[in-house]
Amino acid sequence: MTQSANFPAPARDICGTMLVHRRLLNDSMTYRAQRARIENRALQYETGRRSAVRNEVLTIPVVVHVVHNPAHPEQNVGDAQVHSQIDVLNRDFRAANADVSQVPEVWRPLVADARIEFALATRDPLGNPTEGITRIETDRDGFDTSDTVKAAETGGADPWPSDQFLNLWVCQLQGGLLGYAQFPGGPPQTDGVVILHTAFGTTGCAASPFDGGRTATHEIGHWLDLLHIWGDDDGACSNDDRVGDTPNQASSNTGKPAFPHVTCDNGPNGDMFMNYMDYVDDEAMFMFTRGQSERMDACLEGARASFVVAHQVGTAKAPAAAPAAEAPSEAAAPAAPSVPPQAPAAAPAPAAPAAAPAAAATGGNGHAAHDSEVERLLREVLSEVQDALGIVTGDGR
Ligand SMILES: [Zn+2]
Repeated sequence: MTQSANFPAPARDICGTMLVHRRLLNDSMTYRAQRARIENRALQYETGRRSAVRNEVLTIPVVVHVVHNPAHPEQNVGDAQVHSQIDVLNRDFRAANADVSQVPEVWRPLVADARIEFALATRDPLGNPTEGITRIETDRDGFDTSDTVKAAETGGADPWPSDQFLNLWVCQLQGGLLGYAQFPGGPPQTDGVVILHTAFGTTGCAASPFDGGRTATHEIGHWLDLLHIWGDDDGACSNDDRVGDTPNQASSNTGKPAFPHVTCDNGPNGDMFMNYMDYVDDEAMFMFTRGQSERMDACLEGARASFVVAHQVGTAKAPAAAPAAEAPSEAAAPAAPSVPPQAPAAAPAPAAPAAAPAAAATGGNGHAAHDSEVERLLREVLSEVQDALGIVTGDGR
């Protein structure tokens, strides 16, 4: 029974992420290879062959590029609108959103705290203080999924280094497009998320029914490797989102569906249309699942490991009482005395492994990770980064 397969596709091109994905698959052997690696890693997490090393909350630095045409002043969204968006993200990715209480009882045990938070950058790429917002004037009437908003020379704004910052571009998008993301594994110069200015945040020019900040939640879900919950198979029920705990569903849902909505023989509970990775109105979506959180973990300990490493090092530096000179000392990590000291000599890049045990010891988030776990993570991420760099530089672009 595939009722929704008979419904027409949404008239609005709500999310352009799969368009970008297919374009990159066609154009880039590098992307295809990277996607295969990333999917393989995600599968290892899903099947339990690997598991998340990270326990603590990770904070991802964000830069918001407001690209606006002076003829349309509302495109120059204010700081309050930007901050309202960050607030939504920090609730949604921690399952701290008030509307999570609306998750049907049968799925409440699946609701996940992804242990991810977002903060506007306080230092720009040169190390200077910043509010984490750039404002760029453009003479363009609007943008599409062709990435022109991501470069100054095509009327947009250049990204900040995408291995250190989540780049969010806010602009006028055309054709009913609410936003699009680039999955991990793509070109660094176009890595990030683009969001329509009227679907950004909860104040200012944000317009109903997309004024709940959930377009960014959805698109950042893609940026962290989540697929659409229906598997983009045009109602065929043959493809899913490669997450075990989300029911297979035929196609996207829109508006505010009534529970249950059964497709693909997924009764009695039907589609999990209240998931952030469906297409429903902002006020009708309010959950990620544990399986989705695990897939994000695989991404953050793989293709996006630079954020985890930077966070660890940053945590070590943060307390004023822990001068940098202490970092290399093994004695600075008394949190897990029963763990025999690991020999750090095998690690190829000495700076990060030396700093990480100090991060564990200082326990910046109230979580003292075991040294051995941190070192295992660092060894994994360093090899991932090296592999990734090797492939990217071989692309000859
Ligand atoms: Zn999407």
